[in-house]
Amino acid sequence: MRPVGYLLNRGTNLDGEPGLFYDYILAGNGLFVRARSSLLAATVSIAWAQVRGLALLAEKMVLPKGKIPRHLYDLALSVLFADSCHERYLAITWEGEYRLRMPPQEGSSGGVQYEVMPNTVVDIHSHAGMSAFFSSTDNRDERGLRLYMVVGRLDTLVPEREMRVGVYGYFSPVEFDDVFA
Ligand SMILES: [Zn+2]
Repeated sequence: MRPVGYLLNRGTNLDGEPGLFYDYILAGNGLFVRARSSLLAATVSIAWAQVRGLALLAEKMVLPKGKIPRHLYDLALSVLFADSCHERYLAITWEGEYRLRMPPQEGSSGGVQYEVMPNTVVDIHSHAGMSAFFSSTDNRDERGLRLYMVVGRLDTLVPEREMRVGVYGYFSPVEFDDVFA
């Protein structure tokens, strides 16, 4: 099996040999990337194009273990607020149930370095007092198959957050309610 597959969306079937890690799919509405693990499956649009003769494809994000309990998000926010001057990293992992983990890390006001936890479903990091956006550093670091969340403006009572699904360096925004229940 090749590491990456290159497939055509014929509608009833996908032409081509699937890859071990992920697939590029050419569809009637452009180029997509698709990957799945036991914890997350996602199809993300890379570029729009009209391709005559192929079927349309839609972006999709599925959590096979179910949505994540909302209280883990609230807990994460409390932890980040408790150290609102520093960038912090948290992970929501799957360990038979969803858990919030804080791996060993070196946080400063301008960045955070951390160990990657196994079975991570959501990467969460804070931007301390800065606004919540995915920086070029985040784009460079966030190369896995998982959900990514950034939380910012922790100096206010209404912090900002942004969420996206990442498929090996390709991203698409996701709705909070599609992740947390
Ligand atoms: Zn960031």
